Amino acid sequence: ALAQLFEAQKLDTIGHLTGGVAHDFNNLLMAVLGSLNLLKKRLPADERSERLVTNAIQAAERGTALTQRLLAFARRQELKPQAVDFLRLFENVEDLLAKAVGPRIEIRKSIPGDLAPLLVDSNQLELALLNLFVNARDALESGGAVTVAAAAEESRPTGLAGGNYIRISVSDDGEGMDETTVSRAAEPFFTTKGVGKGTGLGLSMVHGLAAQSGGSIQISSTRGKGTTVSLWLPVAETFVKAQPVVEPPAPEPLT
Ligand code: ADP
Repeated sequence: ALAQLFEAQKLDTIGHLTGGVAHDFNNLLMAVLGSLNLLKKRLPADERSERLVTNAIQAAERGTALTQRLLAFARRQELKPQAVDFLRLFENVEDLLAKAVGPRIEIRKSIPGDLAPLLVDSNQLELALLNLFVNARDALESGGAVTVAAAAEESRPTGLAGGNYIRISVSDDGEGMDETTVSRAAEPFFTTKGVGKGTGLGLSMVHGLAAQSGGSIQISSTRGKGTTVSLWLPVAETFVKAQPVVEPPAPEPLT
């Protein structure tokens, strides 16, 4: 449990560092883009020079898109937390998620209709789901199932304050991860997918969202069996009304 806490702190530090670097990088790229655009206008109209400058502009634009994503997860973008009905949110994006994973992957869901509302930025939560579904798809080369589950949970990872949380989990029965990969999976830029395929930013975005929302994530995975990523997010009423924090009863022993 302590190790997990250190792990979370390490990720926060990496997040802050990355955010700072991303910010500087973004400014530099903006200057590069500005100059390139001017250069393009002044160039003599020959096809080859134009193509070279256009390539450079496109590369710089890809760079700024990447730094935007970095800044988003590194907490430099304001979140707008609101009370969110998770079942409704999920139903709104279900078609999109189904398209993202493709027809060979079945989507299963276990979301109670009377779930308490979450306090979270709904757009960012949709993005987090998309990231998790894309990862599940990549782990399910030859098809399979992704399961989304949500439930009120009394037990929660160490480090979270008292209060009520909902656990949202996305599971797949795909290739899974070895231990080293699990322990590094949420680090920014950590990817096993190879150049041009993975950015290594998906899980760090999910981690950033959970942490910034006052929650937490947990990744459990077994090589050859599958992966579950769980998000603990606060229940809206607990935090909005700022009720005195009441420790929940000890979790029921598992039977
Ligand atoms: P990316 O998907 O761009 O590589 P992520 O941060 O989303 O970046 O994931 C980091 C790494 O964690 C992946 O490259 C992969 O090795 C591993 N990973 C994440 N999700 C899963 C999953 N559902 N199943 C197996 N491995 C996963």
